[in-house]
Amino acid sequence: MPQIYLLAHPAGHSLSPLMHRAAFAALGIEGRYEAWDVPPAALPEAVMRLREPEVLGANVTIPHKQAVMPLLDEVTDAALAIGAVNTVINDEGWLLGHNTDAPGFLQALLEAGFDPLGRRVVLLGAGGSARAVAYALLTAGVTDLAVYNRSPDKAQAMAQDFRALGVVNVLNPEGLEPAVRTAELLINTTSVGMVQGGVDPDLSPLPQGLLPHHGLVCDIIYRPVQTRLLREAAAAGLRTLGGVAMLVYQGAASFTAWFGAEAPVGAMRAAVEEALG
Ligand code: NAP
Repeated sequence: MPQIYLLAHPAGHSLSPLMHRAAFAALGIEGRYEAWDVPPAALPEAVMRLREPEVLGANVTIPHKQAVMPLLDEVTDAALAIGAVNTVINDEGWLLGHNTDAPGFLQALLEAGFDPLGRRVVLLGAGGSARAVAYALLTAGVTDLAVYNRSPDKAQAMAQDFRALGVVNVLNPEGLEPAVRTAELLINTTSVGMVQGGVDPDLSPLPQGLLPHHGLVCDIIYRPVQTRLLREAAAAGLRTLGGVAMLVYQGAASFTAWFGAEAPVGAMRAAVEEALG
């Protein structure tokens, strides 16, 4: 029976097991998808177990997305540039690391009717997901990408790391307002507004009243489904995109990497939406 694991610590909060089990059920696949709580010290041994013949691969999440990279045999160029692996394929004992957050985000954006080619974009955050989003945008032809992060050194490092792909402008607090007002796409990749400890903090990553004049506002947070940023943007008449679509499409890309088949996206999305209420 094909087996897939999620390497995480803690392992309890992820929606990946129910999303992939829904995919198995939709396609009649007799497979197992199990979350493994792997403390950092146990990661090398857990990765070794992925080489076993019945294991198709794994998802990797917090806190292992970077630490797993040197334990693999090969990592795609995209995952190397982003600096994180979220999907591992076991090819007869040879472990290949992918990053499906980048194509997952791009697919969600295209589904929302937004083609990034030649557009002006403001990205909030410079953490792991921001790097995947920036990589997706730059490789899809965004010409004006500006990043704002609480810790400017991380935004500077990202701009430096991606300079071969395109120009990333690092915004200071004074530059944030004019850049946001004229952006065609604003994306929040910070964790500001995310449910923590079961509580919705009802916070926006932007100062009160600051929103683009037009365009699409995207928040990759999926808990809650409607963040304060999205609610304020919708109230201002802007189009919005939440984090569920990216979650589903990164999972769909992982599924395709393991099974070489198209993922049942509808069943995966329905399972996630039911779990999120
Ligand atoms: P991360 O690597 O820890 O980065 C967190 C980011 O949030 C950093 O830019 C950090 O700024 C910023 N931040 C945190 N607290 C802040 C505060 N109080 N004020 C201002 N900025 C703050 O996390 P991540 O993996 O990128 O994940 C970020 C969010 O994306 C999470 O909510 C996660 O659930 C979501 N996500 C969604 C998907 C999806 O499929 N939809 C995929 C991945 C992640 P500093 O650099 O200054 O600390």
